[in-house]
Amino acid sequence: MTTEFPVESVVDAHVHLMPDRLMRAIRDALGDAAGWTFDHPTDLAAMTEILRDAGVEEFFALPYAHRPGMADELNEWVCETAATADHVVPFATVHAGDDDVGGIVERAVDAGARGLKFQLPVQGFAAADPRLEPAYEVAAAHDLPLLVHAGTAPMFRDDPNVGVDRFRSFLDSYPDLRVCAAHMGAYDVDAFCELARTNENVFLDTTFTMSAVAEEYMAFDPDSVADETLIELSESIMYGSDFPNIPYPYERERAHLLGRDLPLETQRDIFSRTARRFLGEA
Ligand SMILES: [Zn+2]
Repeated sequence: MTTEFPVESVVDAHVHLMPDRLMRAIRDALGDAAGWTFDHPTDLAAMTEILRDAGVEEFFALPYAHRPGMADELNEWVCETAATADHVVPFATVHAGDDDVGGIVERAVDAGARGLKFQLPVQGFAAADPRLEPAYEVAAAHDLPLLVHAGTAPMFRDDPNVGVDRFRSFLDSYPDLRVCAAHMGAYDVDAFCELARTNENVFLDTTFTMSAVAEEYMAFDPDSVADETLIELSESIMYGSDFPNIPYPYERERAHLLGRDLPLETQRDIFSRTARRFLGEA
């Protein structure tokens, strides 16, 4: 049974688009670490078909560079691939260890990138790493938002680069950048919600954490986030999925949120409008 989105112009703010070989390496690493297997296709046409069938009209395409020296080529690939498709919003990546951090981001902007993605625990640095300063200067100059895996879930509780305290020190340094903490900031969800409550530049995405299988796959109970919190923070929370790197059917990603008794305006924000505000469109 498919549950339809109750709103129009649905945006999935957390989809991964990368060349096949890189995607396979990421899946192998995730599979080894978490024991997950992935059946969803990784090429744009097949991904688009599944997402369109699911009612998604537009999605962010997120790459990340796990080592220095690969961001330029990866960004170029993502932006070129997205240039053929109106419904794809390309993000760019950079590694703190890259030689020309500012230049890499500048070139990505020229190629059409609309934001920056960091996967901190995989990339191995903190958001406030001073080597990233040139990236943030370019982001500020072009009004690019950042989407960051900043939390300790699902397997990064001992990682020194994530968690709400590290995120706060980034916010202290860059209060003017719009930044989304992926996965509701899990496992520090309450603290990240509090940051979103008090800071209009802090966003959260629902990816994985608010899925119907969050308990099973990441030992998180989505019901611990109250309806009132989603209603209150709807202009800061956007729907995301981690597709195609999810070990379950796409349907499960939104089933929990759709099963809640949320006002239509809240659903419009979470499934569509907040993503546009995050991009600077609204
Ligand atoms: Zn992701």
